[in-house]
Amino acid sequence: MDDLDTLDPLGTVSRLGDPAATPPEVIFRASCPECRTSFELSADALRLAIGGSHRTTFYSFTCPDCGSSVRKPAGDRIVELLTDGGVRTMRLHTG
Ligand SMILES: [Zn+2]
Repeated sequence: MDDLDTLDPLGTVSRLGDPAATPPEVIFRASCPECRTSFELSADALRLAIGGSHRTTFYSFTCPDCGSSVRKPAGDRIVELLTDGGVRTMRLHTG
């Protein structure tokens, strides 16, 4: 299984304190193609860009280990996961 192109939600993480007061945070697992480290990222650490086609739809993050800027194509399922998880989304206007 090639997990370099997978992005899995690890589920919600309850914060300390009253869970009703703070919405749970969704954690995503991603891996870096440069240093091949796997790590967990909060929605804040990810960006999603939605373009006019699959080729211009991608998500990006900075590797916490080596500092590389990583950009990966985002399929429909990943787009859904990221938007549901509260990742900041940028819509690219093409043409
Ligand atoms: Zn890295």
